[in-house]
Amino acid sequence: MTYVITSPCIEEKAADCVTVCPVDCIKEGEDQYFIDPDVCISCGACEVSCPVSAIYYIDDVPDDQKAFIQKAIDFFKK
Ligand code: SF4
Repeated sequence: MTYVITSPCIEEKAADCVTVCPVDCIKEGEDQYFIDPDVCISCGACEVSCPVSAIYYIDDVPDDQKAFIQKAIDFFKK
């Protein structure tokens, strides 16, 4: 399982999450940051660090943000 970064990150890109992640699995994309679902240990540190509340546990991602789950998977496939 993993955490997912959603739309408030777009254009915000505060990057506080990158600093707190203990396994360095948050990478910068063109318009937002992404969490590598294969590396994330679901510690939750990023969720509380995000100043715009963009990060959710995968099971808690709101319905209108679910596209960001696949967007992250696609980002790390490149
Ligand atoms: Fe990193 Fe923990 Fe956030 Fe996963 S939940 S991305 S391991 S800080």
